[in-house]
Order: sequence, then structure tokens, then C-alpha cells
Amino acid sequence: MNRQLRQTVIAGNWKMNMLTAEAKAFADALAPLVPDYKNWCEVVICAPFVLLPDAAKNFKGMDAGVGAQNMSEHPFGAFTGEICAAQLADIGVSHVIIGHSERREYYGENDCTVNAKVLAALSAGLKPILCVGESLKQRETGVTNDLVSMQVKAALHGVSPDSIRDVIIAYEPVWAIGTGMTATPEDAQSVCAAIRDVLKGIYGEDAAQSITIQYGGSMNDKNAFELLSQPDIDGGLIGGASLKPETFAAIINAANQ
Ligand code: PEP
Repeated sequence: MNRQLRQTVIAGNWKMNMLTAEAKAFADALAPLVPDYKNWCEVVICAPFVLLPDAAKNFKGMDAGVGAQNMSEHPFGAFTGEICAAQLADIGVSHVIIGHSERREYYGENDCTVNAKVLAALSAGLKPILCVGESLKQRETGVTNDLVSMQVKAALHGVSPDSIRDVIIAYEPVWAIGTGMTATPEDAQSVCAAIRDVLKGIYGEDAAQSITIQYGGSMNDKNAFELLSQPDIDGGLIGGASLKPETFAAIINAANQ
């Protein structure tokens, strides 16, 4: 990472985990473990929808951001069971994960819906954490950089040069998510650098250098330091290891370099 040029962001993705009391206990335990984190990074907790109002209150003391894990691409209206960007912003949500591979795989999200969601999030003032990444088969076929570049271009279609600075990109190889298999720091760096090249092609060198690109995929307290020391990896999107305050705190502390 390069802290002179861009913000380091450590984000936890709780997925469909935690109950109200556990989430409160997590917030109470995390704060004293990372008292000075604001000196080196931003922290965001992406909680299930029903826990977001409480999370906005519980993490206010430590000034951490609160993110949703999905949202509708539509504004208000007849979309039963959905939640729109303005409703998230209204309860103090600052970020939203968009295009997570579990959404793409289990809920049929594609590059078009992901693009619509990114645009909808930005127009409501939310910061999208845009997830891209290849499957194992795609990696083995040698198309990783082409595929990820295409995902980034499609997802950012119509995003203005002014808005791009509010987008965080998370490179998450699908085969590394929740599997305990992590990309090597060199491989993760190489794809993150390719993503920055795509951003440079669309928005120019200055903007590309200012955009936060995270790595996600079995990042934990043991491997975080090395991954985060790569020049184009500006943070992490962390699933399993974000569920325990101690391991999540260790990752936040590993970003202090
Ligand atoms: C994720 O859900 O985005 C993720 C990276 O999960 P894990 O850290 O558990 O692999």
C-alpha cells in the first residue's frame, strides 16, 4: 500500500452472522484493541441489514464506518423485500459491498446489475466496495487479468471522474473466499496492479493512484502483514477473520506499516 497516495481501508464482512448482543459485544471488545487505528487506516464493518441501525450506534464511538452487504439497484418503489441506497444512508450507513461473489453465484447478480448498483450507491452518497475476482478454473485457464479488467470496466460504466474517488475496489479471487486458500502476495499484487492499470486507462494516472484497492480471500492475522505490504494492496475485505475482535484487530494493526 502507499499511504501517501491513498486511504488504507480494512473492512469486515460479517455475512449472515451475529445476533444483536454478539454484535454489541464485538464493538465493545474491538475499540480498546485498536485505540489509534485512525492514524493509519479506516475501518468499516459490513453487517447484516437488521443489525445496521445498532451497528451505526455501536461503532460511532470508535468512528468506524458501517456498511451493508448488498442493496437494490432501484430507488424507492414496488420491490418487495429489497432495500434501497437512500434507506441505508438514512440510518447512517456509509459503505455498501456490491457484486460479492456470493451474490453473483447464489443470487444471479451479473456485471449489469452490479453496474446499476454502483451507480445507485454513489448517487445516494454511499461508498461502494466493488468486488471482482476470478474462479479457480478461470485462473487455471490464464484469463484472470482479462476477466477482472472486464468486470471492473463493466461495473464502472457511467461512473464519473468525480465519483470514482468514492469507489473502493476489492479484488477477491473466488477460490480464496472462505476456503483458507489465500492468493500469494505476489499474485494478489499482480492483479491489483492490473486493476490500477485499467483505472488509469479510464480515469488517468492521478485518479488511478488515489483509488483504494483491497485484497479479500482468507486474509487473516497471520497473512495480513505480507499481503498489505504489497504496493497496490490498500487494505482488506475480510470475512471469517472479521468475526472475532482479536483477529480483526490484529489485521487492523497489521495495516500499520
Ligand atoms: C469475503 O467474504 O469477502 C471474504 C473475503 O471472506 P473470507 O475472508 O472468509 O475468505
